[in-house]
Amino acid sequence: MNLHEFQAKKILRQFGIPVPEFGVASSVEEAKQVAASLHLKEAVLKIQVHAGGRGKAGGVKFAKTVEEIPGIARALIGMKMVNEQTGLAGVVARQVLISRPVDIEKEFYLSALIDRNQATPVLIASAEGGMEIEELARTSPEKIVTIPFSFEGKLRSYQLLRLAKCMGWKGELAKKGAQFAQALAKCFIETDASLLEINPCVLTKGGDLVALDAKLAIDDNALYRHPELSDCYDPTQVSSQEAMAKEADLAYIAMQGDIGCGVKGAGLAMATMDIIQYFGGAPANFLDVGGGATKEKVAEGFRIVLSDQKVRAVLINIFGGIMNCATIAEGVIHAAKEQKIAVPIIVRLEGTNVEEGKRLFQGSHLKIQTADDLAQAAQLAVQAAKRG
Ligand code: GDP
Ligand code: MN
Repeated sequence: MNLHEFQAKKILRQFGIPVPEFGVASSVEEAKQVAASLHLKEAVLKIQVHAGGRGKAGGVKFAKTVEEIPGIARALIGMKMVNEQTGLAGVVARQVLISRPVDIEKEFYLSALIDRNQATPVLIASAEGGMEIEELARTSPEKIVTIPFSFEGKLRSYQLLRLAKCMGWKGELAKKGAQFAQALAKCFIETDASLLEINPCVLTKGGDLVALDAKLAIDDNALYRHPELSDCYDPTQVSSQEAMAKEADLAYIAMQGDIGCGVKGAGLAMATMDIIQYFGGAPANFLDVGGGATKEKVAEGFRIVLSDQKVRAVLINIFGGIMNCATIAEGVIHAAKEQKIAVPIIVRLEGTNVEEGKRLFQGSHLKIQTADDLAQAAQLAVQAAKRG
């Protein structure tokens, strides 16, 4: 689950990481109230969306006087941002963060994430903050250091020394930097984050280190341990299919292609994606109906797959173990009839009660083709999607 910057900054503060004073507004009236309560003479206003690159996209604005704040807030609230991070559909900001501007001496990059290859949390740091880290990694990878740290979320002194050296921090600043990084590592571990990125972490003209921006993503599998974060979920920031799937407690992943996929089990989902690619197609999404799904749940899952406008053919690939093939067939047929489906549907069924499942599909008078094996099913789906 991704958090908004303002949500992340509240958490950073609890861990003792300095952030500029801020408030959040979802209307012009609230923006005025924030400005008044913080006694702002000038302000930085930033759209709150689950994507970075807001500065370049016009989502970060400076108000030089307090009078400018309402006008800027009006322009930013409801703003739609479209960039390479958002996809073509873009994301709409419902809120704006309003903060006391900071005089920047220098911008740094600092983040914590899990390095899956080394199976350890790592701190990633660079003295060149502000810009996109992906770009820096391409052009000057030597300017980025990666420091593995323990699952206790504690950095050792040699690790802090390495960090200070990379950042060019000395004396008092090295001390502040060590505290900052230590708190960041602790915050990362204790919130069960998959990413905590501060870009930029800035040295102010006054000599302080503050988190000017914050991106925090929590591992979904650990959310049950964080009931305090449950109201951070913002369905407006994910695709409507993802929101529907979360609501129905189904696993759904959106992709860029045009073949919708209904599968059972994550392993079979991976195999289905691979074989579609192998035959020259591209998946639009996949939905894992899970083990004990009912007909209604299958129908809901299938509705989600079909509501994705990119879908030009659907591949249903089920190996019924715990799952009964007839249940799948009933659910799919129900959803397809209700939605007056025009796209071709290719079905490959195997396992428990497969004969009954096939019989139901054949008798359904839908545009359904059944395939005997996965390779044939994938080829039929790729061809159908190409024909449109
Ligand atoms: P992003 O573009 O989505 O990553 O948004 P950021 O919050 O990182 O803001 C983009 C850029 O705006 C930062 O890298 C800073 O250069 C600038 N910026 C943001 N807040 C302030 C501020 O308080 N003072 C100054 N001088 N610049 C700021
Ligand atoms: Mn940033």
